[in-house]
Amino acid sequence: MSGPDKPQSTNRLQSRAAQSEPAQGRNDRAAWFQGSSAECSDALRPSGLPWRLVLLGAPGVGKGTQAYLLNQRLRACHLSTGDLFRAASKLGECDRSPAMQAAMDYMRRGELVPDTTVWEMVRERSACIRCAGGFVLDGFPRTLGQAELLKQLMESEKIPLSAVVNYELPLAEIVDRLSGRRTCEKCKAVYHITGQPSKVEGMCDHCGGRLFQREDDLPESIKVRMEAYERSTAPLIEFYQSQRALLTIAATGTPDEICARTISALVARAGTVAIA
Ligand code: AMP
Repeated sequence: MSGPDKPQSTNRLQSRAAQSEPAQGRNDRAAWFQGSSAECSDALRPSGLPWRLVLLGAPGVGKGTQAYLLNQRLRACHLSTGDLFRAASKLGECDRSPAMQAAMDYMRRGELVPDTTVWEMVRERSACIRCAGGFVLDGFPRTLGQAELLKQLMESEKIPLSAVVNYELPLAEIVDRLSGRRTCEKCKAVYHITGQPSKVEGMCDHCGGRLFQREDDLPESIKVRMEAYERSTAPLIEFYQSQRALLTIAATGTPDEICARTISALVARAGTVAIA
């Protein structure tokens, strides 16, 4: 791609990602952050067939948390396009291509990054889609165009999609989750100001890092993100329903409860499931 994923900038993107990513097992997801030529260290490997999942749901529904838990339980790698853009946003301006610079502006406003930019990033990381360990895609695809491109890629590589998990939550709860979310700037642990507060206000329990509110969790951006979801991403529900791939899961309760519900639904659909 033309951007931070060119060789020189790619290395910077990876080292930034390594500094700022939360511990996820010990897998550094190098191939996702650096591009297909990198090798992941200590990736979890499934004991049975790999799971290849797409997570759908409005912003704030908890897809990132579920992707993390599903990675731990099903051992499929957590692939988040939002994480990629956030890692790129930490690069200096001169390390970003014009397309990536523009992508940062879209992200800051809560708008979707254009499909061409997103697809360039994902296509460059197609080894992650082919990976024998499987994947949990979080935040991609987000438009019908992206879903079609992913379908074509998977069909051409003869890779089956296991399921698309669609998380549902009432709008008022989504807005509360997003506006109260705080993230540690060092280890990326996530808190909620009322639901899951840190012991000391503004300070991470794990590493003492400063807690911050994501720019796109500010009220104006939340509104824009919800509108973008309704307009561009909600149609994917029908798209995947027509392919008989959709599983709808209530995103209420604790993260562990939601994960257990998800795995039960996957078991019911697939018959068996290898769980770590
Ligand atoms: P997320 O962490 O998934 O909520 O993504 C954060 C932001 O990154 C989104 O609000 C978009 O601006 C951008 N983004 C991430 N993934 C995509 C995608 N698949 N298509 C378009 N924009 C994306």
